[in-house]
Parts: sequence; structure tokens; C-alpha cells
Amino acid sequence: MSNAFTWVFLLALGLATATRLWLALRQVRHVRAHRDAVPRTFAEAIPLGAHQKAADYTVAKERLGIFDTLLDVVVVLLLTLGGVLQWLIDQWVRLVPASSLWHGIALIATVLILRTVISLPLTLYRVFVIEERFGFNRMTWGLFLVDLAKGLAVAVVLGAPLLLAILWLAGAAGRYWWFYVWVVLTAYSIFLHIVFPRFISPIFNKFSPVTDAALADRVERLLARCGFRSRGLYVMDGSKRSAHGNAYFTGLGASKRIVLFDTLVSRLQPPEIEAVLAHELGHYKLRHITKALILRSALSLLLLFVLGALADQQWFYEGLGVRTPAFAVALILFLLVAPAFMFILEPVMSLYSRKNEFEADQYAVSHAEAAELIAALVKLYKDNAATLTPDPLHSAFYDSHPPAANRIARLKTT
Ligand SMILES: [Zn+2]
Repeated sequence: MSNAFTWVFLLALGLATATRLWLALRQVRHVRAHRDAVPRTFAEAIPLGAHQKAADYTVAKERLGIFDTLLDVVVVLLLTLGGVLQWLIDQWVRLVPASSLWHGIALIATVLILRTVISLPLTLYRVFVIEERFGFNRMTWGLFLVDLAKGLAVAVVLGAPLLLAILWLAGAAGRYWWFYVWVVLTAYSIFLHIVFPRFISPIFNKFSPVTDAALADRVERLLARCGFRSRGLYVMDGSKRSAHGNAYFTGLGASKRIVLFDTLVSRLQPPEIEAVLAHELGHYKLRHITKALILRSALSLLLLFVLGALADQQWFYEGLGVRTPAFAVALILFLLVAPAFMFILEPVMSLYSRKNEFEADQYAVSHAEAAELIAALVKLYKDNAATLTPDPLHSAFYDSHPPAANRIARLKTT
């Protein structure tokens, strides 16, 4: 079974995959070529050993990424043109009629479980081999299994009602079902932004207020200066799983909060923590979460419209190796093939994210010391073994944060 769309899909998948592999190889080559000299800006703060460790760590992760890209292509091709999805449809039809809502649910759940199981060895390799080798892993097998079980439970509890609502609307809401689905999706996404920080994240981690008195006093004053309620600041026990340090801003409305990893708090000095916090406050003040939500929502409206048009086209199914048209099948096919077509959006989204990071940095230096933020960034790069010398094209395509050198150069000029 194949038609013109088969070839369009194969072309898109081929181009996206070739670009990914090309970028990955560029990154490996670039990082290795700069492995033996610390860039001049960082020469005082970062010893050669740490720089080389960052290079080796980056290359190891990139190699796993290459394998992941190839595995993904194989899985997508097997499911579609390889006939596995059609086979699954037929198996489930023996138990539930194809027209039933439950057939769709069973089919989608099967594909999701299949993909999770296939990607599991890669996750295990990343955590227990790569992270372990570079001294970052704190995860035990027990904790890994507990996380997996909790993650599955959360996915079922939060995902099943949404999936049920989408499948039901697609069957019952008439011609403009995609618009109603969009309304539900948008409302659900706002709901998740409110519920996640307060009720879901605590299932996996412990969040506590800042206890160190000197630090608490310092951050209290900063939060007051920036108009952020102080009970929105938490320290998270990130050290339970990994030695990597980080900080993030999350949530909407009353559940918005800034989270500092305990690993970050333990390694930075109070003035450095204050500067990092000021950066996160920048994300809050500049409404980056809300803007991202609106952008994603606009994109999902466009995607649902396209899905609505495709779900009625016989050529869409046949071009992808399926002879049983049904909404759930269209949804699965769409989720499998859309990444190949949306690949070109990735650098645009990365660019947007980096713009936000520069903005948050600007905000930070108007409320804290630029020198402290620079010191904090250098420490974080060193401790997290993040490369200082990424391939410029790879970075432009994927990185949500500007390369260290650009970010620090800009901070120095303010
Ligand atoms: Zn940021």
C-alpha cells in the first residue's frame, strides 16, 4: 500500500533525519576539536580537566542521541509502512468493534506503551551508564522503578480523561469537532499549569522553604523588590536523583513558583543564588510562561485543524500503510508523522526561547549584580559539565539557552 503521500512522508522523514544526524556529527566534531583548550574567557575559572570532562560528556550524550534518532525512525516506519499499526488494529478489532470509543483507547494505549518500552533501554543507558560514568547519577534501581510506576499512574490519571474527551468529541461534536477539542485542550493545559506544581511535582520530589537564615533574608528582600510573594520560593531535593544543579520558574496564578535545586543552593554563594533567582524572577515578570502557553495554544489550533482535514482523507491512511480509517487511527498516524514535518519549527522555537533567556538576564542585572550572575553561570557550566564550545549551528538549532560565551559577553556589556 503506497501513494504519493507515502513519498512525501518519506522525503520529509529522510530530510529531517539527515539534518539531525548531520547536526549531531557536527557537534561531536566541534566539541572534540576544542577539547584541549579552555576558551580564553573561562581560562581562570575552569581547569582543563573540567573542560575535557564536559567535552567527553557532551560527546557521549550526542552519540546516544544519534542512536535515539535512528531508533525512532525505525519505530515510526515499522508502525506505519511496516504494517504494525494495521496489525494492532486487527488484533483489537477481535475484542472490540472498530467503531467503539474503547477500540480507539485500547489502540492508543498500546502504541504509547510500546513506544515507552522501546525507549526504556535508552533511558536506562543514559542514567545508569552515561550519568554514572561522569559522576552525576544518584538514582538507584529502586527509585527508578518507583518513578516509573508513579509516572505511569500520573499519565493514566491525567491522560485517560483527556483522551476520552478528545475521542468522544471527534465522534460526536460534528464538523467543527477540532475547534471544541482545541477549547478542551487549552483549558486542560491551563489546568495542568495550576495543578502540576502543587500536586504532581510533590509526588516525585520534596519542596521546602529556604531555611538558611542569611540566604532567606537576602532572597526575601529581592522578592519584595520584584513584587513576588515570598512563599512562592522553594528548594527541591534534586540531589535525590542527580548531582546536576538547576533552577526554574513554573506555574500560573496562585500556584506560580520559583524552584531552586538543593544541589544549586549548596554550591553557589548567597549573592550568586540571588542573581540566579533574579533571572527566574525575570521569567515571571516578563510573563514568559503565559506567552509560551499562548504560542503553544495557537500552534495546537493549527495542528488540530490539519488533523481534522486529514482524518477524512483515505489517502492519508493508505499512504501510511493503514486500510482502516478511524479517528483514533488518524490521531496516532498524525502524532507519528507530524514531527518529520514540524522539524523546521524547532530552530524557531529555540530562537524564541533564547530570546527569553536574554530578556531574563537583562531583568536579573537590573535587580542583582551582573558579576554574581556571571560567576553563578560559570560555576553551573563547570559543575554540570556543560560544553563551553558547542557547534554554532547545532546550538542555533536546538539550544533553549544561549551558549555560555554569548550570554556572558552580553552580561558584561550591561
Ligand atoms: Zn532562564
